[in-house]
Amino acid sequence: MEKSGYGGQWITLEAGGAMSVPSNPNIGYIEGDGTGPDIWAATRPVLDGAVEKAYGGKRQIHWFELLAGERATKETGEPLPNKTIELIKKSVVAIKGPLTTPVGKGMRSLNVTLRQVLDLYACVRPVRYFPGIPSPVRNPEKVNMVVFRENTEDVYAGIEWESGSAEAELFARLLRDNFGVTLRDLSGVGVKPISPEGTKRLVRRAIAYAIRLGLPSVTLVHKGNIMKYTEGAFRKWGYETARQEFAESTVSEEEVEAGAQGVGGKVVIKERIADSMFQQVLLRPEEYSVIATTNLNGDYLSDALAAQVGGLGMAPGANIGDEAAVFEATHGTAPKYAGLDKVNPGSLILSGAMMLDHLGWTEAGNLIREALERTIGAGVVTYDLARQMKGAKEVGCFRFGRAIVEHMN
Ligand code: NAP
Repeated sequence: MEKSGYGGQWITLEAGGAMSVPSNPNIGYIEGDGTGPDIWAATRPVLDGAVEKAYGGKRQIHWFELLAGERATKETGEPLPNKTIELIKKSVVAIKGPLTTPVGKGMRSLNVTLRQVLDLYACVRPVRYFPGIPSPVRNPEKVNMVVFRENTEDVYAGIEWESGSAEAELFARLLRDNFGVTLRDLSGVGVKPISPEGTKRLVRRAIAYAIRLGLPSVTLVHKGNIMKYTEGAFRKWGYETARQEFAESTVSEEEVEAGAQGVGGKVVIKERIADSMFQQVLLRPEEYSVIATTNLNGDYLSDALAAQVGGLGMAPGANIGDEAAVFEATHGTAPKYAGLDKVNPGSLILSGAMMLDHLGWTEAGNLIREALERTIGAGVVTYDLARQMKGAKEVGCFRFGRAIVEHMN
């Protein structure tokens, strides 16, 4: 494993939050546990190769390693050293492999901790189909969506109390004495907070993304028919954000249906109830583009969509906040394959392509996606896809990355 110093320049944030990206940014990487080092070894040459090919040496990433997970524990005694957090803040952009979450009490997921301490409030998951990949649906190519899932609120906020605990009993008493609500004995209790601030910053980011990329719609997915003051409020604040902050560039689906004039080219703001959305993405996927949703809905929906186009092994993702963004493989550490140079590095590679887009280096990001498509089209794949594709040529993890670089030419 190569350790580089900080040979480049730092990305900076301007007033208003825009990133200023030098041609030679320092970017931190976390290799991750289990198969993390395998997929990172395959990914790094793909990212460097795409940047080199797109900009002919005028741009270059200066990588430096960030310690986290099992190696960090071994070397520093801490699974997520403060220095790592500080360096992610400093480099503004980072990429990471999967990290082990030990099962059992007292150990919080490092991924959740990273999201919370860096306030990475938007979990962004693009979902598209790569021809050749086996899919459980008839027309997977119709799926081309980006899910913006709120990452910090909802029942995932970690406000919950175990059945029989003093806190759960106190909470039950509070409800009974003040609101006349009676919980069943020994109920475990969880709280679902959804705030205007949390909703608006997520929806703002989703709409800005659709406008920047010229995408046709943003769909607010919620369960507001049942949970009126949380999911319903998400819908209300979502529409408010569109109306108050993007009046010139957005129009509601209702207005379009009522025959509003001069709406061509505007982003259409739609809304769907979460359960119906699961049907919609199967039956009419071509009608959806950007999705903005609450934490739990987004968790389910992004995995269901990934399965629709052929599985989680290739799904990229990022956790983005106003001051930092961490791009990551969405699968776990797959420990039984660690060190075997076997697993599919596609998820981390595509997350790296997202990272290049985020830097404004879209030419390099596109090169990666096109080359990956050609590589799979040529039947060159890792074991997970080879076992489902007739006539495929199975290659190892590193060799798959190498084939992508070769297909850039
Ligand atoms: P997992 O690591 O995702 O592995 C489950 C199975 O998925 C593997 O056995 C393999 O299937 C397939 N798979 C995963 N990654 C693959 C890849 N790159 N290429 C091909 N196939 C792949 O899930 P897990 O076993 O539940 O979790 C293991 C550890 O990862 C846990 O400690 C968990 O907490 C952690 N985790 C971390 C993250 C993260 O850091 N973001 C996310 C999820 C889980 P086959 O056996 O069929 O080949």
